Amino acid sequence: MDYLTMQLQKEKEFENACGRCGNCCGRQEDPCMHLLIQADGLCICDVYFSRGGMQKTRSGKFFECVSIRDILHLDWPGNWTCAYKKLYFAKNNASL
Ligand code: SF4
Ligand code: SF4
Repeated sequence: MDYLTMQLQKEKEFENACGRCGNCCGRQEDPCMHLLIQADGLCICDVYFSRGGMQKTRSGKFFECVSIRDILHLDWPGNWTCAYKKLYFAKNNASL
């Protein structure tokens, strides 16, 4: 396997690990206006491919949408459901 293919595969594996709970997008308090909750309870972002940067919550508050990698060390409402946090803490031998 060449390097580029391996990188793309790793990126896809990382993306697929998301449980789509929506909690990193404010689902538990004041959701981002781009967070869509589907009939099955899972979430999608309606601007996913251009999500980075300033965004607005449903109540009108501005915030910066950043990569999940940048907030793994932080707490947010419902963060215990995050698949990446579980992976991060398992890797670092710590607990949530
Ligand atoms: S813009 Fe960012 S915070 Fe808003 S739903 Fe999309 S990924 Fe979540
Ligand atoms: S909190 Fe974690 S698992 Fe849930 S949607 Fe955000 S990145 Fe995905």
